[in-house]
Amino acid sequence: SQPLSDRILNMSTSATLAMAAKTRELKAEGKDIIGLSLGEPDFNTPDFIKDAAIQAINDNYNSYSPVDGYVELKEAVITKFKRDNNLTYTLPQIVVSTGAKQSLANIAAVMLNKGDEVILPCPYWVSYSDIVKLSEGVPVEVQTSIDTDFKMTAAQLEAAITPKTKMLWFSSPCNPSGSLYSQTELEALAEVLKKHPNIYVVSDEIYEHINYTGKPHASMASVDGMFNNTITVNGVSKAFAMTGWRIGYIGAPDWIARACNKMQGQVTSGANCIAQQAVITALNADPSVVKFMIDEFKVRRDLVLDLLSNIEGFNTNTPEGAFYVFPDISYFFGKTLRGKTIHNATDFSLYLLEEALVATVTGEAFGNPNCIRLSYAASQKEITEAIKRIKEAVS
Ligand code: PLP
Repeated sequence: SQPLSDRILNMSTSATLAMAAKTRELKAEGKDIIGLSLGEPDFNTPDFIKDAAIQAINDNYNSYSPVDGYVELKEAVITKFKRDNNLTYTLPQIVVSTGAKQSLANIAAVMLNKGDEVILPCPYWVSYSDIVKLSEGVPVEVQTSIDTDFKMTAAQLEAAITPKTKMLWFSSPCNPSGSLYSQTELEALAEVLKKHPNIYVVSDEIYEHINYTGKPHASMASVDGMFNNTITVNGVSKAFAMTGWRIGYIGAPDWIARACNKMQGQVTSGANCIAQQAVITALNADPSVVKFMIDEFKVRRDLVLDLLSNIEGFNTNTPEGAFYVFPDISYFFGKTLRGKTIHNATDFSLYLLEEALVATVTGEAFGNPNCIRLSYAASQKEITEAIKRIKEAVS
């Protein structure tokens, strides 16, 4: 065996990226795979943002940027938090990073000691558990089901808390379930958390704008009494179709922001300077500039739900945000399809890849073994064809 660290040997490979790699491989072999596995908008970055990046290059933005981001960008982040979330952050409370993923890795590194427990309501975003483990934290999974729209109740939270609980991490809108916590639901969780002032919350709001309810997004930090115990994580990847630009950010209590800045200063330095300049323009724009994407995602969500409702064994909730559906497909467990026995969600996802030529992701990667995730960040034509193929392969 290779002399690698236990740290990396114990880490699982990102299931979504693994599926993307496998899809690319099969495509290279000439197979006509439809990819519904990746969490990536299939739109181009809006022109006004691209123009700002070109301008930054021509203005000779080529030097190291401040570790926690340009002041002008942090001011744009502050404006955004106020405008969209009614949150009042100050400059020392903002840290810009190379994607929200780095923001999360920073938070784990600066907040967790060995053995500290982090509550993860399931299903959770694929990387949370491995990021926590990398910092020697212990993920504590709280199972939810389709019956509660995949949301954790206050009673479940209360029951999961132990003297070792340090944090709660969750995303709303949720990747992978598309569920969205309302203001009232957040308040109920906050009632429990306020009894435990040593617990800190990561509120991952990266899908904030991809919300189909018509109601405003609810932020944990805006709930009465929660501001000083919440780290709000956000970024531009999803809302502005900027996944490859790699800019994310946090709003947090000063001492946490300072620690993240220190961590980043030793590990990566400031995020890409061109991308930061472009994001100033993106965040200062009115969110209505991306409404066309959200409208299109909503049409696709309805299309996916309609098509899946005609397949026996697919049990779906109605996602209110993000661009995923997370059907419970446990109906198929123990059944044999085309000579292949399906034991679990991973088998089912692989079966769909091989027999329907459709790439999905197993729910096991998200802490829910009964489901698979389909992304509808694909054209209506691709979605229609993919679900037609799935239907044929499982009927
Ligand atoms: N948080 C959630 C819930 C996500 O789904 C993703 C991306 O898939 C991220 C964070 C990471 O975003 P970024 O591209 O900013 O690193």
